[in-house]
Parts: sequence; C-alpha cells; structure tokens
Amino acid sequence: MFDVLIIGSGPSGMTAAIYAKRMNLNVAVVERSAPGGAMVTTASIENYPGFERIDGATLSMNMFNQMTSLGVEFIGDEVISLKKENDAFFIKTTYGEYVSKTVIIATGTKQKKLGVSGEDKYTGRGISWCAICDGSFYKDKEVIVVGGGNAALEEAAYLSKIAKTVYVLHRRDEFRADPKVVSELEKINNVKYILSSTIKEFSGKEKLEKVLIEDLKENREYWFNIDGVFEFIGQNPNSELFKDLGIVNDNGYISVDCNYETSVKGLFASGDIVDKGVRQIATAINDGAISALAASRYVK
Ligand SMILES: Cc1cc2nc3c(=O)[nH]c(=O)nc-3n(C[C@H](O)[C@H](O)[C@H](O)COP(=O)(O)OP(=O)(O)OC[C@H]3O[C@@H](n4cnc5c(N)ncnc54)[C@H](O)[C@@H]3O)c2cc1C
Repeated sequence: MFDVLIIGSGPSGMTAAIYAKRMNLNVAVVERSAPGGAMVTTASIENYPGFERIDGATLSMNMFNQMTSLGVEFIGDEVISLKKENDAFFIKTTYGEYVSKTVIIATGTKQKKLGVSGEDKYTGRGISWCAICDGSFYKDKEVIVVGGGNAALEEAAYLSKIAKTVYVLHRRDEFRADPKVVSELEKINNVKYILSSTIKEFSGKEKLEKVLIEDLKENREYWFNIDGVFEFIGQNPNSELFKDLGIVNDNGYISVDCNYETSVKGLFASGDIVDKGVRQIATAINDGAISALAASRYVK
C-alpha cells in the first residue's frame, strides 16, 4: 500500500511527490503521458523563477529526475477509476490496481482546440493557449486571438501591449464578453476585429505563417498571413473520472479547502484541476507543496 498516490505528473503532481517523499512516505505517481504535463507543450518558459528562460521539456525532465532520484515510484499508466472503501483508496489503471492511504489528483486541464488541419503541427510554433506565457515571443508582431468571451478579450488587451497588431477573430458578429470588457478593448488602437469568421486551416514551414479564414457571412475563404494565433475558446478540466465522488463543481473543477483537501477525507487535489483563478506553473507548484504536506499529516 502507498502512503500517497498522485495522479498526474505535471509540475503540481511532481512537486507534491517531491514534498511527500521528503516526509519519508511511500509515494507513487501515475502518469498517462510524458512527465511534465502542460509544460511539455511550451517551447520556452520565461516566468519560472530561477531560470531566465528554459524550455518546457528541460524543466519537465529536471523535475522528473529530482523526483525519481528521491525514490518516488513512477507508473506510466492511465488512471481509469478511483474509489474509497473504509480508509483506503483503490486506484485502477489500464494495466494495474493500486491501494493508497491518500490520493492527490493533479490531472490538470486540456485546452479546447479548434480541431482544424495543421493545429497539432504548429502547437508551440505559432499556436498558443496562454498569452501570459507566450505573449512576449510576439513583440511587434501580428497575432490573432480566437474567441469572444471575457478571457479572449482580456487576453487580447494584454497582447495589444506586446504585439504590433492583435486581430480578434470570433465566429459571431457580437461578443459573449461583458459589455465593459468589450468597450475597454474598443479603445485600444492596435486591436482589430475579424468577425463572423472561423479558422479552417493552419499553414507554414517550420513555424506558423498563415491561416485559412472562412468568412461566414460572405461565404468565402481567404489566406491571412500571421505570426501567432492564441486560442481562448475554453478549457476542459480532466475531472470526468472523479464526478461520482461528489468533489467536482458545476464547471468541472475540483473544490478544495485551504489544505487542498476535497470533501472526501484523505483525497486532495492540486494544480490546474482545482477551482481557482490563476493557472500557472508557479501556482501549480504552490498547490503541490501544500497538498503533499497536508496528505503527510493525514497519513501520520
Ligand atoms: C502552451 C502552454 C504554455 C504554457 N506556458 C506557461 C508558462 O510559460 N509559464 C507558466 O507558468 N505556465 C504556463 N502554462 C501553464 C502551465 O503549464 C500549467 O498551469 C501547469 O502545467 C499546470 O500544472 P498541473 O500539474 O496542474 O497540470 P498539468 O501540467 O496539466 O499536468 C497534468 C498531468 O496529468 C496527467 N493526467 C491527466 N489525467 C490522467 C489520468 N487519468 N491518468 C494519468 N495521468 C493523467 C496529464 O497527462 C498531465 O501530464 C502553459 C500552458 C500551456 C498549455
């Protein structure tokens, strides 16, 4: 039986593992993909203290090596069910079954994608889902922000301070965002609008160079040269598995207390999966440390 089993090896899960292991606990991390989580999808990270600039893969491997050198057991598998019986958690994966005294859910989110041709190829090479992370790569360049909600328009305003021109591309001719957000954006000179339109295809060589836009009103398609595209059409929390436990709120995120414990005793959640305002590596790490120390107190 493990003391702490962590689901997900993004920065939050790996931090939790490091903290829990240093409390002399028997710790495992189950990860269905590469260690690093969403960090792996970014070419360059410039806001992680201690590194002026580091690529996501290197930072991921640094954390992974630190975690495994302490003796954390890394299980490359996908968790498919989690239940609590008496005082133990039973975790089923595609290829195994595990029992643990506590569980930390650090499964993160997946970005909603447009789902059109070329999107996978140019992810991290011109297509981004994070303006605060990747905006600085587009200084004095031209970018498109896709979306019509508050997030899209607020991120467009943020990017307008960096990029030469920000085109807000939205499939409707009016925005879902609050009127105040819309009117604030309208005051910014270098923000332009491509309304009633969608992106049908991404294209380029090594990096993104152009997008195929469909004008839904005029029923025509045209290529548009662009340096970057930021998609803000929403996020999907990886919480499907946990709905039966009664810990997932209406938005799909997991509610926790100040120790990152859910309403199920001994079950913690950490990182982007948690219902909170800022989803960054720094905040994921914060949650991982706090949840691991709380789990350690629970075990002891
Ligand atoms: C393109 C991009 C660029 C970014 N750039 C920055 C940046 O520059 N700076 C910054 O601070 N933040 C950045 N972020 C945000 C940052 O990466 C996230 O806030 C952070 O990774 C969240 O960490 P996490 O551990 O909570 O979740 P994640 O990193 O999402 O990790 C969750 C992990 O859980 C695994 N998992 C999910 N379900 C299961 C399951 N059932 N079984 C097993 N494993 C499972 C996933 O495979 C994943 O590895 C960026 C995000 C993106 C998408």
